[in-house]
Amino acid sequence: MWNKVLDEYAIRCYKPRILIVDDQPVNIHTLSAVFHGELDIIVATSGEKALHLALKQKPDLILLDIVMPDIDGYEVCRKLKNDPITEWIPIIFVTAETEANVEAYGFEIGAVDFIAKPINPAIVRARVMTQLMLKLYMDNMREVAWLDGLTGLYNRRRFDEMLKQHWLLCRREQRPLAIIMLDVDFFKRFNDNYGHQKGDDCLRAIAVALKGTLRRPMDMVFRYGGEEFTCLLPLTDLAGAQERASAILNAIKALQIPHATSRVSPFVTISIGIACTIPEQEKGEEDLLNHSDQALYQSKSDGRNRITTWPGDKPDTVSEV
Ligand code: GH3
Ligand code: MG
Ligand code: MG
Repeated sequence: MWNKVLDEYAIRCYKPRILIVDDQPVNIHTLSAVFHGELDIIVATSGEKALHLALKQKPDLILLDIVMPDIDGYEVCRKLKNDPITEWIPIIFVTAETEANVEAYGFEIGAVDFIAKPINPAIVRARVMTQLMLKLYMDNMREVAWLDGLTGLYNRRRFDEMLKQHWLLCRREQRPLAIIMLDVDFFKRFNDNYGHQKGDDCLRAIAVALKGTLRRPMDMVFRYGGEEFTCLLPLTDLAGAQERASAILNAIKALQIPHATSRVSPFVTISIGIACTIPEQEKGEEDLLNHSDQALYQSKSDGRNRITTWPGDKPDTVSEV
């Protein structure tokens, strides 16, 4: 029965990864032995190491000891559940404490299950596989909920999540994060002239072109809504973002989609706003987004078909490339 779970992962060319956390190596050994190489197993012998590995390796499940000398299992669990990068990883506590209030507290802070020590291999396997199956379904559901139906790009919901995550990452590492926001020029006129169907075709073509401009694995493009798109460029400075924006402006121009009623060009064009910063305070990502939006607005009011960098003072404005 559980092989089906592994098959489902295998179809996705993926072996489920679990993180086993226990300060006693012998316990880690006993738990690892349950899975006979079926799973990709990583281990940590302290709470600190567990937090580090969870963040870097994003396991599909964590088996977590409660009593540990540095940071205890409860604290590890709380920290993981408070971080948008790790909050979706299911946590199963493995503990000799079987009192109901201990269990209740574990569930309260976000654990999905409990396993009693000394462990019974068949029960451990069943509980782990059940959670891995649920994790896979949840991942699939989220993946579908993140996609935009028309273009196949990630949608605004995904953008909001990724912006939060990358804000935290770049803040931790004190590296720059850039947003490029873009909007199709005179698109209402395009629809009015060519029809909604052609409008949809145009948005799809733009989506493909945008994907083609991505250069780094972490760069992502989203349909933000309507005829508006965003690019999220982690670890990218202002010069890098401006270079990407120029490539995007030119890629859309190169599509040469006729737009007879545009006031700026015989072809479809876009306007772009850029904002870039090294994240400082918590929740500052909303400001960064607003700044890219303001820069886009400036591009529109300065005549469209151009790039503006926030704060949008004239010396920073990059006119049509
Ligand atoms: P501006 O240059 O100032 O951006 O002008 P605009 O006409 O592009 O902007 P406006 O916001 O007035 O109009 C946006 C248009 O985009 C109106 C709407 O019908 C169209 N639109 C939004 N989403 C879609 C879509 O999914 N498909 C199609 N075909 N059109 C869409
Ligand atoms: Mg528009
Ligand atoms: Mg718009």
